[in-house]
Amino acid sequence: MDGDLASDVRSGLEPRRQEMIDLLGRLVEIESPSDDREGLDQLADVLGTIFRDFGRVERCAPDDPQRGAHLRLTVAGANDSEPHAAALCHFDTVWPKGTLQRIPFSVDAEGVARGPGCFDMKGGIVVLWFALQALRERGLRPRRRLEVLFTCDEEIGSPSSRPLIEQTARGAALAYVLESPLPGGTLKTARKGTGDYLVRVTGRAAHAGVEPQKGISAIGELAHQVLALHALNDFKVGTTVNVGVVKGGTRPNVVAAEAEAQVDVRVQTLAEAERIDAAIRGLRPTLPGAVLEIDGGLNRPPMERSPGMAALFEQARRIASSMGVELHEGSTGGGSDGNFTAAMGVPTLDGLGPEGEGAHAAHEHVLTESFARRIALLSGLLVES
Ligand SMILES: [Zn+2]
Repeated sequence: MDGDLASDVRSGLEPRRQEMIDLLGRLVEIESPSDDREGLDQLADVLGTIFRDFGRVERCAPDDPQRGAHLRLTVAGANDSEPHAAALCHFDTVWPKGTLQRIPFSVDAEGVARGPGCFDMKGGIVVLWFALQALRERGLRPRRRLEVLFTCDEEIGSPSSRPLIEQTARGAALAYVLESPLPGGTLKTARKGTGDYLVRVTGRAAHAGVEPQKGISAIGELAHQVLALHALNDFKVGTTVNVGVVKGGTRPNVVAAEAEAQVDVRVQTLAEAERIDAAIRGLRPTLPGAVLEIDGGLNRPPMERSPGMAALFEQARRIASSMGVELHEGSTGGGSDGNFTAAMGVPTLDGLGPEGEGAHAAHEHVLTESFARRIALLSGLLVES
């Protein structure tokens, strides 16, 4: 029956692709970088308006007045006595304001849509809206009460939305994440955990020509630390440690008193996270007199594929297959808010957005021909799982 629903939704939506394109354009044309309160508020207003038809919408203002507000939508389920389902969307993007002038929203003759944030993940919000609409048009409700979060700080590590996400996921039977999929629409059932560290070195300044021996080069010390950090890489078990940014010094003729490195860490298991954390915190200076200061830690725990996640994927695979679509699962080094829900033991299905490519990259695009089948898949999941 649910397979039938998915096929029915898909065939109903195939001729209506322009409606999905219009909504995508409307969302993309409001620029919403994570640090732009004005753009975020403007987009939150639009989301609040367009999703209001499906249930109660609340604004969840974070404590920090600089930050935008998140939204929570509650959609009644067919059976509200069952544990609820969570759905996660974020409406911030990595693209600074003004990107839209350089990359305006467009759709070419092949149906490829471009524009900042179209794939990551405004396209996913379009999928959710049309899935809820498809159920409503048929007089159906999701099987479970659905708690949807639209958050606006995912791209900076979800500092203010994390408590809200965890509160929403508590007691949930499952979580849908409307992030972009892997190529070919492949869903994500495992994600690496991510960490950020800042390694700061304090040395001592001195004239590089007159009395360099009195200085302690923070840059020299940092160079040792960068090599030690990169030695922690273990690609075989999926652990990566990357010093992505270094800063330090003031002028060529001064022994540098200060230097720092920003470090990105990715791990597949919590055990690796602990090993790397201990190693980074255990770094010691090599130059006499240099001082090391280390901040940061694991930001998102790894999303490890559990039996519950495997079962949820199997449901998705069956629904897709009933429409003649072959659905695959895979893993990624990128984190999402699904890492938080999965780490709480909530089976999480991530990557439910439309097909496309190029998250965070200049070639970011959405294949609009995939909209109908992705919406149909989510409609089936909402009713069945
Ligand atoms: Zn995203």
